[in-house]
Amino acid sequence: MEIVKTIAEVRVQVKEWKKAGLSVGLVPTMGFLHEGHKSLIERAAKENDRVVVSDFVNPTQFGPTEDLASYPRDLERDAKLCEEAGASILFNPEVEEMYFDDRTTFVNMDGLTKELCGKSRPIHFQGVCTVVSKLFNIATPDRAYFGQKDAQQLAVIKRMVRDLNFDIEIVGCPIIREEDGLAKSSRNTYLSPEERKAAVILSQALKIGKELIEQGETSASKVKTAITEKINTEPLAKIDYVEVVDFNNIEPVENIGDSTLAAIAVYIGKTRLIDNFIIEK
Ligand code: AMP
Repeated sequence: MEIVKTIAEVRVQVKEWKKAGLSVGLVPTMGFLHEGHKSLIERAAKENDRVVVSDFVNPTQFGPTEDLASYPRDLERDAKLCEEAGASILFNPEVEEMYFDDRTTFVNMDGLTKELCGKSRPIHFQGVCTVVSKLFNIATPDRAYFGQKDAQQLAVIKRMVRDLNFDIEIVGCPIIREEDGLAKSSRNTYLSPEERKAAVILSQALKIGKELIEQGETSASKVKTAITEKINTEPLAKIDYVEVVDFNNIEPVENIGDSTLAAIAVYIGKTRLIDNFIIEK
């Protein structure tokens, strides 16, 4: 596996692969990789001849008061994990390589991006759509892999690919969890031991919501209430949102149906964590 820092190097390599008739998978990440990322890379390696993993803490998707400066980084460890998982290239550009200072072009999406995480992170999805479009143009993959952990992001990327005719298959991958149920996240490293224990409330609350639905509950508001009440039993937890929406368009639903997404964002101390489940009937 090669670590490359420039767009030109990725392009040269991908062109060679394509000339040889090889398929290419892309896994966009912000680094500090864990088992969740690994599952995406392994799946990409299984389904494609070559895999590009991007490792780039994208500044344009962070708001001014968010954790850009403190976001954890460890390229050496990331490289090891990527190699083990079957990546061919680890693309780790500097910010200056990815962005012109006088850039004026952005990818904006109406709808889908205004609710859930878009409410408390108003510029987040513009940053995500723009950087993912750039990565698509740089790596020109056949398939790109995204985790259901960021369910709204997955829905947004699918919509963007459809609307802008990117010739790329978007593959959604299941959430990988710690043993106690906490969804793996690079941000879990921010948690103190006490907060780490408290953070299990997210998956516990979602489990209650899911079980209610499995028992036949169809009212979205009742499911929301059950999830909310459970989270509120944890003194260190502060809810950002608890929402039940249609996964395809991120619009609120009254009744649980096919592809309903229950999504939550909760502060544990200063750390904002997200989790969700999707009902697939
Ligand atoms: P990030 O580095 O947090 O931007 O995540 C890069 C990709 O990995 C995104 O598509 C995430 O949804 C995915 N991902 C992050 N955590 C997990 C997880 N616990 N399980 C599955 N996928 C994940």
